Amino acid sequence: MSLYDIPITKLSGIGEKRAALFRKLGIGSVGDMVTYYPRSYENWSDTTDIADLLPDTTCVVKARVATPVNNVRISGGRMMARVSICDDTGYLNLVFFNNKYISSMLLYGETYLFMGKVTRDRYGFQMVSPAFNKLSDSETVTPVYHLTAGLNNHMMIRAAREALSMLPEVIHDPLPYDILHRYDLCPLSYALNNVHFPSDLAAMYKARHRLIFEELLVLNLGMRMMKSQSREQTAIHMTEDYTAQFIDSLPYQLTCAQQRAVSDCVRDMRDKPSPMNRLIQGDVGSGKTAVCAAVCYHTVKNGYQAAFMAPTEILAQQHFETFSKMFSDTDVRIELLTGSMTAAEKRKARERIESGESDIVIGTHALVSESTVFARLGCAITDEQHRFGVAQRARLASKGEHPHVLVLSATPIPRTLGLIIYGDLDITIIDELPPGRTEVDTFFIGTDKRDRALNFLKKQVDEGRQCYIVCPLVEEGEGVDELQNANDYAAELMLGVFRDYPVGILHGKMKPKDKERVMAQFAANEISVLVSTTVVEVGVDVRNATVMMIENAERFGLSTLHQLRGRVGRGAYKSYCILVSDNQGENTEQRLSVMCRTNNGFEIADMDLKLRGPGDFFGNRQHGLPQLDIADFSDTETLAQSQEAAEYLLSISPDLSNDALKPLRAKIRRLFELVRHRRCFFSLSKVSA
Ligand code: ADP
Ligand code: MG
Repeated sequence: MSLYDIPITKLSGIGEKRAALFRKLGIGSVGDMVTYYPRSYENWSDTTDIADLLPDTTCVVKARVATPVNNVRISGGRMMARVSICDDTGYLNLVFFNNKYISSMLLYGETYLFMGKVTRDRYGFQMVSPAFNKLSDSETVTPVYHLTAGLNNHMMIRAAREALSMLPEVIHDPLPYDILHRYDLCPLSYALNNVHFPSDLAAMYKARHRLIFEELLVLNLGMRMMKSQSREQTAIHMTEDYTAQFIDSLPYQLTCAQQRAVSDCVRDMRDKPSPMNRLIQGDVGSGKTAVCAAVCYHTVKNGYQAAFMAPTEILAQQHFETFSKMFSDTDVRIELLTGSMTAAEKRKARERIESGESDIVIGTHALVSESTVFARLGCAITDEQHRFGVAQRARLASKGEHPHVLVLSATPIPRTLGLIIYGDLDITIIDELPPGRTEVDTFFIGTDKRDRALNFLKKQVDEGRQCYIVCPLVEEGEGVDELQNANDYAAELMLGVFRDYPVGILHGKMKPKDKERVMAQFAANEISVLVSTTVVEVGVDVRNATVMMIENAERFGLSTLHQLRGRVGRGAYKSYCILVSDNQGENTEQRLSVMCRTNNGFEIADMDLKLRGPGDFFGNRQHGLPQLDIADFSDTETLAQSQEAAEYLLSISPDLSNDALKPLRAKIRRLFELVRHRRCFFSLSKVSA
């Protein structure tokens, strides 16, 4: 019996109520718990003497509790607990807030390990709310798990320990022996035990490396199988090439890269037995919309309908206007279909789509709703594809009889990753910007220069331009929430420098409709300064905006910064990006100076991956790929190894039918089935298992 078949409630201390919390984290079975890997570790082995502590560093101190815990009430009804600890070299004060259990947990005269950030106040050094532990010498590296309200790390540790104890004596390793040997990987049982409870740091790295390798290998194999097998035959062949007449009608000449993208598409739609399945990847502002318009025109002239799906109302609206202009001299009929239209409008639009009266249909998710039926869909296009799951792309395609599929993305993805992320797509890269584009000048300043920067923004607004300000990010546990923070920040600007100007605000807690409204006001220049906590809508083209100012720039990934910067410099006006940060972290300066040095999205994506280390490279998992348990794409070396290993295995057994690969096949199925279950991925039913 597999551990995946044993419910989590079999573990001691986990009843139905607590099991529900575990399920929230995706842990339903004992097997799930075994593969619920720690998000990080605390290393308690590297202790510092109290006399050697340095302020603003995180340290581990092994010390004795030197005073009883003193609880005092402070302002706002909060509790503060104070206690001193000592080792042979000195004393240190500890402070805890709102934890009435401290006095029962820290016993006078006992020795503990304490881990926390050392700060200095006027009484000397102290640690605020350090973690503490009584550990034996063999457990110096402890796991830290992602939690949810109601579960603490101790409960997770206990569950993981018990789940591991239920592993059978002999575990079948899904990796064939020659792969283990070739890449010097540890056996699975060692990896599982040491990923949760490593005997030391080296064991932890070894365990993680092996699990990451395996996961990337499975992903690689799955995507490759999908690419080679998931292509249906299509009856839609567009023999005549109509793109030249359309391109001639544009007010500008296409760049070579745009031309190339158009011909790639025309070729895909004409020659192959299977439908086009292509990604056009081009930096912000590289002119993907015009390429897509040419493809739409071509589709319509060949007698079919084209659908163009955008992630937001405002983008759909904008595309609709752009297309309406581009096609004004033709008989092509453009339709808009978005969620915010009235029921009657939607119904009428859908009637025209179903009857075939509309030629090009531009819209939001409303396009894939069941009630939208196309008369003869020939080409399905998705804009800003990273905002959609792969499933939505597939659902749009399912509106026709194997129509051609085109997806557009501005998220620069390092070349090494393209194969995995878009394993099932052919790729065209637009590596050229339209002529006459000036680069966005980027500056990196400390908060001491913020006032000067704001005055600069004001001058731009006085000249009629508009500005974005991405306001300071709030970290969890800082006691302020996003909303309050954004409001405070905007209020400060509205009462201060921008007192006489229209300031708008956009934050994550707003309803989508309200967000759209604010964006629309900004697009119409009814708002001069847009303060935003979240990432400003992708792809929106407000050509009049010339400054993007980003607070706490150090907290963003370079790729996100690049996307944000792409919101300006879209028109004829000279544009600027101002990165504000006081962070002295080791690579902050290095990272932010990359932004100042280059506007090339690919170069930035590569640097991001190199500099950022572990972490979710794509921010909010905006790639529509399955959710990975342990791997992230920042480990380029393991990624390359896993790609090589995938090629090797497929060269021995192209359909993985070899008996030795049976466990791997099961893994592939599992990964992709899980994903289907989470509804972010299209099926991989064709992988034979
Ligand atoms: P993105 O690739 O980010 O979607 P867009 O398609 O929105 O970029 O194009 C950005 C701007 O560049 C648009 O205003 C568009 O009209 C303009 N543009 C596109 N192609 C060209 C070209 N070949 N020459 C001049 N301007 C162009
Ligand atoms: Mg675009």
